[in-house]
Amino acid sequence: MIITEKGEIFHVHTFRCGHAAMVPDEAYVEKAIELGAGKITFTDHAPFPGNPFGNRMDYEELDEYVESIRSLQEKYAYTIQIGCGLEIEYLPSFKSYYEELRASERFDVLLLGQHIYEHAPGVWNFSVPLSEEETAMGLFEAQIEGLATGYFDVLAHPDRCFHRFDHWTSQMETASMELIRVAEDNGRIPLEKNVGSISTYNMYWPEFWELVDPDYPVVVGCDAHDPRWMLIWNEVDDDDGFKF
Ligand SMILES: [Zn+2]
Ligand SMILES: [Zn+2]
Repeated sequence: MIITEKGEIFHVHTFRCGHAAMVPDEAYVEKAIELGAGKITFTDHAPFPGNPFGNRMDYEELDEYVESIRSLQEKYAYTIQIGCGLEIEYLPSFKSYYEELRASERFDVLLLGQHIYEHAPGVWNFSVPLSEEETAMGLFEAQIEGLATGYFDVLAHPDRCFHRFDHWTSQMETASMELIRVAEDNGRIPLEKNVGSISTYNMYWPEFWELVDPDYPVVVGCDAHDPRWMLIWNEVDDDDGFKF
């Protein structure tokens, strides 16, 4: 069941992550208004204290990111709703950081997006020689652990890490059923159908989504790294749940 609001653009990045268009945040808002959206939610890649990982803003930029979104909220208060969120991995060593982010109440949504994982305490998967399958399953298990912590509001692209497989396996099926159960047991945490994944080979797995109950809350995220990638969720298509 798609719970994304009509006219909402969810899951938008900014130039700060280093792999998005070099445009001001306002360009996304202007494009959203041009598209007729009623809401846009920014979820740029979250930094971690000490900046141990790439492909994201520096920790020192976090305040400025929040300030930038806030000033846009004020400027466009009568035109469009603007959400301020973060897309962030679950890494058990940073529990106090997630607690701090939640307690700050600065973010409308903490979107769990597992691009790396903690292989052993303080050891990140990319610094260990792992097979593609091991990496995929490690990422998938980390998502499940993350869902059980209560730190996250939505899970981004749960099926994306399976792009390391070339066909659906019983191992993927079992892990998927476990993930869906844990999401359900922890307050029916919404799962994101990621538009960027749908258009990329093997990143979107219909086999995963077939396991999700039709009534389960699903969010549509565009994962825009450029204003031109933004799409509005408008109406449900009966066949595949998508129509833009
Ligand atoms: Zn990104
Ligand atoms: Zn993203």
